[in-house]
Amino acid sequence: MKSRLFAVAGAVLLAAAFAAPPGAAAAPAAPQAPSTARLAAGVPAGLIPDRPTPEDVGRALARVARAGDGRVRLGVAGRSNEHRPLRLATVGTGPARLLYVTQQHGDEPLGTPAAVRALWALGVPDTAWHRWLRSRVTIDIVVQANPDGAVRNQRYNHDPGATGEYSEPGVGYDINRFHNPLTPIEDNPVPEARAILRRWHATHPQIVVDYHMQGRYMQPDGRETTASILWPTSALAGDAAVTRSRQLAVRNHDAMTYVAGANVSRYPGGDYEGIARNAYGILGSASMLVELSALPEEQVDFQIRTAFVSMIATAQGAADRTIWRTDPERADSIPERGPALPGASTLRRADAA
Ligand SMILES: [Zn+2]
Repeated sequence: MKSRLFAVAGAVLLAAAFAAPPGAAAAPAAPQAPSTARLAAGVPAGLIPDRPTPEDVGRALARVARAGDGRVRLGVAGRSNEHRPLRLATVGTGPARLLYVTQQHGDEPLGTPAAVRALWALGVPDTAWHRWLRSRVTIDIVVQANPDGAVRNQRYNHDPGATGEYSEPGVGYDINRFHNPLTPIEDNPVPEARAILRRWHATHPQIVVDYHMQGRYMQPDGRETTASILWPTSALAGDAAVTRSRQLAVRNHDAMTYVAGANVSRYPGGDYEGIARNAYGILGSASMLVELSALPEEQVDFQIRTAFVSMIATAQGAADRTIWRTDPERADSIPERGPALPGASTLRRADAA
């Protein structure tokens, strides 16, 4: 009798929660989120260069960690072939685990300064909202996953002995083809990919976002694309993970479009399971690729802000779980990327995610 009464009361409460207007449902209510502009304004100018060296990244992260007074923890996810640290920064202690990766391709730098700024914005201030967010999510960021490529401004890692598919002989491997979850990790020749895979297996993140750069393209409506995104397209990715990835993509599309002012299209990516976007979807995460277009120099800060907005919106949406109430079918209305911008430099290798 008593349990039935509770069941009825529970159903009524549940119905009330669904009937309540958005934002008023959950108890206790989340503190009001600061605007992304306000979060960005709190980050010190000159914290990190737009195209940082590994030493710049190390210095900037150390400064964030000092200012964050223990709220941003620094570590290493592994070592590159030249023994550079693969820097791992973590903010938050909450149950929802997130993993962001920047600059797997050494010549695609802008996700890295965005990540350092996001770590400051989420880890240094200590408002009620910040404490709430950090109690809900734990965000791991592999910052500049390809430091050996970054110092050479090259796509590949540094491995002169690299051979086989997805390698450039005498140069190195394309890290973003070596996340294949079907390959035994000890057989994987790419230390940067091994490190990210190991971090995945240690934490089972519900969300993985991988930040890259592409060339310059038109939207179908004739404006220039400033960013493209995509979810897992491998047939090996399960329906639930793909649905959640599409929800993540819709949330990011909206934030990048309406908060950052980006023109977002759907990236024409492949199905190969070694691509991080596919691999972490196959493993069960909501997984997404972000490609910032290589816009002219005066728009570099706008591009960094687009990635920053993506990182903050993903964290907020995971913390309040609004991502999982997004309609995944809306991903189909993200327009396909249009043709290359006439007159833009010839396609870079970076175009292959
Ligand atoms: Zn790339």
